[in-house]
Amino acid sequence: MTNILNSYIKGRWFQAETGFKDILSAIDSTVVAKISSAGIHFGEVIDYAKKVGGANLRKMTFHQRADVLKKIALHLDANKEKLYTLAFQTGATKRDSWPDIDGGIITLFAYSSRARKELPDKTFVVEGPSERLSKNQTFSGQHILTSREGVAVHINAFNFPCWGLLEKLAPAFLAGIPVITKPATATAYVAEALMKLIVESGALPDGALQFICGDTGDLLDRLDGQDIVSFTGSAHTAELLQQNPSIARNAIRFIAERDSLNAAILGSDANKDSPEFANFIKEVTREMTAKAGQKCTAIRRIIVPQAYLDDVTSALKQSLSKYIPGNPASKESSMGLLVSKKQRNDVIQAIRQLQSEAEIVYGSLENIDDKSAALSPVLLSCSEPLKATVIHHVEAFGPVATLMPYKTTEEAIELVKKGEGSLVASIYTYDDRFANALTFGIAPYHGRLYFIDRDSKDEATGHGSPLPALVHGGPGRAGGGEEMAGIRGIFHYMQRTALQASPKRLTKLLGEWSYGGDQTVTEEHPFRRDFDGLEIGDTIRTKERTITLDDIEHFANFTGDTFYAHMDEEAAAANPFFPGRVAHGYLLLSFAAGLFVDPLPGPLLANYGIDNLRFLKPVSPGDAIHVRLTVKEKRAARNPEYGEVRWDAEIFNQNEETVARYNLLTMSSRQPAL
Ligand code: NAP
Repeated sequence: MTNILNSYIKGRWFQAETGFKDILSAIDSTVVAKISSAGIHFGEVIDYAKKVGGANLRKMTFHQRADVLKKIALHLDANKEKLYTLAFQTGATKRDSWPDIDGGIITLFAYSSRARKELPDKTFVVEGPSERLSKNQTFSGQHILTSREGVAVHINAFNFPCWGLLEKLAPAFLAGIPVITKPATATAYVAEALMKLIVESGALPDGALQFICGDTGDLLDRLDGQDIVSFTGSAHTAELLQQNPSIARNAIRFIAERDSLNAAILGSDANKDSPEFANFIKEVTREMTAKAGQKCTAIRRIIVPQAYLDDVTSALKQSLSKYIPGNPASKESSMGLLVSKKQRNDVIQAIRQLQSEAEIVYGSLENIDDKSAALSPVLLSCSEPLKATVIHHVEAFGPVATLMPYKTTEEAIELVKKGEGSLVASIYTYDDRFANALTFGIAPYHGRLYFIDRDSKDEATGHGSPLPALVHGGPGRAGGGEEMAGIRGIFHYMQRTALQASPKRLTKLLGEWSYGGDQTVTEEHPFRRDFDGLEIGDTIRTKERTITLDDIEHFANFTGDTFYAHMDEEAAAANPFFPGRVAHGYLLLSFAAGLFVDPLPGPLLANYGIDNLRFLKPVSPGDAIHVRLTVKEKRAARNPEYGEVRWDAEIFNQNEETVARYNLLTMSSRQPAL
């Protein structure tokens, strides 16, 4: 029975009745599934996303959204085998599908965990410290991020039907924006199976995610200024979509991840006996053969010192000879297939274009298997790459790469730049000067630079692996987009607004104390209040303590910190920062703790760190310090028994001058839930 793919819209599965396209198997070109979006009213889909999905998501805090992602990830993890089985039809071996399926699930887990740790249990983010805008502390600025009220339209490429959907969904969902996602037709049956599992998890809030199988109709024409489009695919399609009049007219944020002619550069120090050379051959081979080279991050341009060209060519020939495409479901196959025979035709056409400037030194375009979408690796070599253009512009999206020799480091840099912007470049060297020149020569053209040498080779994560913690994207030809990069990826889906107001107003608006805001000095020591009893702005002002020379010497001898600025009057006075012997900064922190601490057991459980510490003015023997400690922010922890409190701490001298400022981080117990 033919598998007719369904869309998931307005909280229900929808099956079209007309307009079907066949999706063919990479293995034998039989019909795997039929796809059509005919009959979907995209205005209603957007309406549902905004009215139901957006409203539901914006009610949830970051932590609640993170919990949903985790629940979905757990369900996917428990049921992923069916995705692997289906993916064989796309030409992917089990090893090829791991970054797509497990990689996607890991990305959900990673985002869920980061959001729990790095974002507040709130619906908005207070970004960075407040900016002082007035002399007398009555007017300040503060950036915040709020959820946009639109919808995120995600359009994905065929090569990562699972990871592509999930890595885009995670940050958008956390940002509180509903998603309408469209998989590429060629592998939509894997994405549909993934979507079924997501719905089956029961975790998804209504309207938060809709799934379109087939064309997007007039979806893009209906978007407005609160919406965001995130596209992954070819430069050609990106260009077409970016020209949509509604995208231009409404200044719709458009994130594009396009094709990219990523380079691998062998250092001039890395001769054939070096560990860097061996890793270079290994990585280039892997990038040409994994997923049959259908990865946006795959190495397309192999840039090597002229003197090592022959060594590299013969090592690559030998290493590639171990890879013969075969049935992806068979454990015997060393390499999978292209996604379709159509894709293979496109790749062959691209190779023919490359041949105008480069010759094939390994592989062949003869004897192509007509039944499956197999293509053996093809290695080309260009003798004058600096004069060439096609090899730096044509992406053969398959197991294809071109060797390009260079004579000097400057030439290597120039060659890399000819790609006009890439997702990633990898550099194989143990030479500091080469590494330095390459980094600063090509960083502006890349989203990621990946170094492998003898120190990192065993644990390096792979040229071709985008990671949730690091930016994925690249300038220019690569699309100019940025995805993931930890929490930054979430902020792409939010609106940044600068608030300008009195610190008192900011404190009330944001629920966290803004410097200069109201302070409530309570009779009871705030350390005697539990997490729920503490109020933002609760403050303790301590009595004074005079610092003596004995204190400084005692501290120096006790800790071993006998730095001359504390011990030698003449040497200290010669230092441009000190008037003479001064107290240790850590002595001030310790005395500050001694001034504000409440000694008996109570709700304050532990001090777990200090943030943003600055020593602002030296303290000399005879100076008297005191401390102000104010509750700045409270964050509930996952464990209901306690919460985290951030205190704004300021140490003053006898002239009310600030000598040190920092944020003190503590854990306080909570009242047991009734
Ligand atoms: P593609 O042909 O450009 O298609 C990409 C997506 O755009 C598909 O979902 C496609 O849907 C959709 N699309 C095409 N025309 C459209 C239109 N007029 N309106 C709305 N959507 C439209 O790319 P692909 O062949 O799937 O993927 C391969 C390319 O993607 C390669 O060039 C590769 O380098 C690039 N890629 C880049 C990254 C990255 O992160 N930079 C990652 C993966 C892949 P249909 O399939 O239904 O036509």
